[in-house]
Amino acid sequence: MTTYSLTFCAEDYEALKAHLIREDGCERAAYLLCREARTGIDPWERQVHEKFLVTRIIPVPDEDIEESTPAHISWRTHSFVQSLKEAAGNDQVVAIVHNHPTGLLAFSPQDDANEPDLLQGALNRNGDGTRILSIVLTPDGQMTGRIWLHPSKTGHEPLSIVRVIGPRITLHYPDRATVLDMPAFHRQALAFGQALNRDLRKLRIGIVGCGGTGSAVAMLLARLGIGQIVLIDNDIVDQTNLNRLHGARQADADAMRPKVEVVAREITELGLGVRVTPFDAWVGNPLCRDALKACDVIFGCTDDHDGRMFLNRFAYYYLTPVIDIGLAIDVGNEDVPNIKALDGRVTVIGPGHTCLLCREIIDTAIAADQALKRKNPEEYDKRKAEAYVFGEGNPSPAVVTFTTELACMGVNELLHRLQGFRGPDGHAANRVRRFHHNEDRRPGRHPRPDCPLCASKDTWGTGDVDPFLDRIE
Ligand SMILES: [Zn+2]
Ligand SMILES: [Zn+2]
Repeated sequence: MTTYSLTFCAEDYEALKAHLIREDGCERAAYLLCREARTGIDPWERQVHEKFLVTRIIPVPDEDIEESTPAHISWRTHSFVQSLKEAAGNDQVVAIVHNHPTGLLAFSPQDDANEPDLLQGALNRNGDGTRILSIVLTPDGQMTGRIWLHPSKTGHEPLSIVRVIGPRITLHYPDRATVLDMPAFHRQALAFGQALNRDLRKLRIGIVGCGGTGSAVAMLLARLGIGQIVLIDNDIVDQTNLNRLHGARQADADAMRPKVEVVAREITELGLGVRVTPFDAWVGNPLCRDALKACDVIFGCTDDHDGRMFLNRFAYYYLTPVIDIGLAIDVGNEDVPNIKALDGRVTVIGPGHTCLLCREIIDTAIAADQALKRKNPEEYDKRKAEAYVFGEGNPSPAVVTFTTELACMGVNELLHRLQGFRGPDGHAANRVRRFHHNEDRRPGRHPRPDCPLCASKDTWGTGDVDPFLDRIE
């Protein structure tokens, strides 16, 4: 068995809706070109997960439409052939989208009858193994979808979920209207509704870095009822972590337990049915790839600049929002520490948002040294002795109340994007809490014009390329 899913960025989804949903209440159609993100073994389902990433919307032009009514549409298919041709040249899969103005969030008998022929056409044009997706959109913007694997009546499988990511994150899946009947989550449903509980249960969230901030994010997500969590960190618990690492005990430091194991244990012991998978590895380790690709959202809680570089790229390539969190405490040199800065930051990256490089949050010199330390420790030590490496000074100050507050800020940003409690423009792409001044700021930053990640859509949804996260020309 394989799981299939689809992700749009909000911009494309809005363009699609504007084309399909018109005042005349008639059916319209469009094609999507999608690249693929293939997870060999999904960490939770233990099977292949194929995620399709929408890279382009191709509306079927009005002049190609032969008949369009509230319950029917037919159009000349030369635009379909064009889309197939473009898809074949770019390693993409074509999806056909049409709307059901009547509100039917399902495929009609007519869709069932027509679509095998469309797949047959695609097989004839692009050869064996070609698949197509089909999506239905209702007037309220909901979607359901399926993938055609064989040109027979039953040759299709459902899409387990369709995601739209952007200032809001919306999830479309079959059982969204059902109630999650767990008393532990009743009180939050009173605030935010049943649908949020369902969404949280459905979500797959990665947490990269399980220190003070990451462990707090993990425990908060577990108590909210997130269904699937993956923890990634290659560090062990030591005594100096015990002031802020949620769940860690002296015995964990004595046993030199990996942080991910400790946090996974704490989550499991809550008994809230959260499926948690720990990875005792650096985020860029190929061992983590399947798990990262299977995630809907990732929290970046690492102070490793090279790890941030990796996530910064991943967010755009895989249409996966990354909520990156950082704390900086700067103290003077006096005998009694004197706070010069106590700044916390929650930054969301991914399509439609300025990346961490353009925001100058990643220090590329430190990132290069951290990469060197991992890849060539001898050379790193040599340069360190010659004082040629950056970013390895005294341990940085850290206080649990601030790391935990930042975790709350980051998780609340996710809650808003899912549920919308802050209203239409309530999202914050970058928020800095200046604890020592008791104020919040939202420093804005435009993409650098030449940034390959955030300045244009070219790399959005690139998905799998070899080498991993490399450029495609
Ligand atoms: Zn239909
Ligand atoms: Zn950028």
